[in-house]
Amino acid sequence: GVNRKMHPQDTILEVAGRKIGEGYFNVFAGPCSVESESQILEVAEAVKKSGASFLRGGAFKPRTSPYSFQGMEAEGLKLLLEAKRQTGLPIVTEIMSEKHLDLFADVDIIQLGARNMQNFMLLKELGRSQKPILLKRGLSATMEEFLMAAEYIFAGGNHNVILCERGIRTFETMIRNNLDISAVPLVKTLSHLPIIIDPSHAAGKRDMVQPLSRAAIASGADGLMIEVHNDPKRALCDGAQSLNIPMFETVMADVKRRVAFE
Ligand code: PEP
Ligand code: MN
Repeated sequence: GVNRKMHPQDTILEVAGRKIGEGYFNVFAGPCSVESESQILEVAEAVKKSGASFLRGGAFKPRTSPYSFQGMEAEGLKLLLEAKRQTGLPIVTEIMSEKHLDLFADVDIIQLGARNMQNFMLLKELGRSQKPILLKRGLSATMEEFLMAAEYIFAGGNHNVILCERGIRTFETMIRNNLDISAVPLVKTLSHLPIIIDPSHAAGKRDMVQPLSRAAIASGADGLMIEVHNDPKRALCDGAQSLNIPMFETVMADVKRRVAFE
C-alpha cells in the first residue's frame, strides 16, 4: 500500500529515463491546454530549453462551465505526441474517462485531475494499468481521502503514483486555492510516494508562482508543475496564472539555484 509503515523506503519512479521522487527533482511545464500545433511546439521547445523535464498540456479539460473551451481532445493528444517527438520531452496529460485509455497508450504519465480524485471507477481502471499516474489532490479533499485515492490505484496493482498538491478550498477568496504546504511533510511522513507542487492552480495569478515555487522547494517537494503559455493573454484556459516564456525562464533559473537537479 501507500503507507510508509508497510514500505519504509522512498519510492523513486523511473519514467522515460527520468527518476522522480526523493532526491530527484522534476519540473513539469506547459500550457493548461493544447490549443494548436504552433502553440504546443513553441511552448515545448521553450520549457525544454529552460530545463523542464516533462511537457504538460491538457487535451480533455474538466471545465466548470459546459460553454467554456473543452480541450482539443484526441486531436490535442496527437499534437502533444508530436511535441514529444520533436523535443524528446515525455508528456503528462489528464484523462477524464476510462473509455479513453487506449488513446493514452503513448502518454508517459496520465494525470488524474483534482475533480476526478474520487472518481472510483477511473481510479480502479488506472489501477489495472501500469501507467505512471499523477494524482492531483481534490479541491476539498482531506489528506486521508487523498492518500486513499492513491490506495485505490495501488490496490489494483499499479504502484506508479506521483501525488500533486495544487491548493485546496478555504474561506480565503483572494487566491484561487490555498496551497497546503504542510501536505508535503505530511505525505513524506505518512507515505513513501513522491509529491510535487502545482503553484499555478494554487495561486491563480502568475505573480505568485515564483514565491510558491520557492515554498515548495523549501518544504521538500519532489518537483513542480507549472503552467506556461507563449501568449497568456490569449490563452483559452488559465491565462491569468500562466507564465509567459521569459517569466518561466526566470523562475527556472531561480529553481536551479535552490535545488540540485539534472
Ligand atoms: C490542470 O492541471 O490543468 C488542472 C485542471 O488541474 P486541477 O485538476 O488541479 O484543477
Ligand atoms: Mn489549468
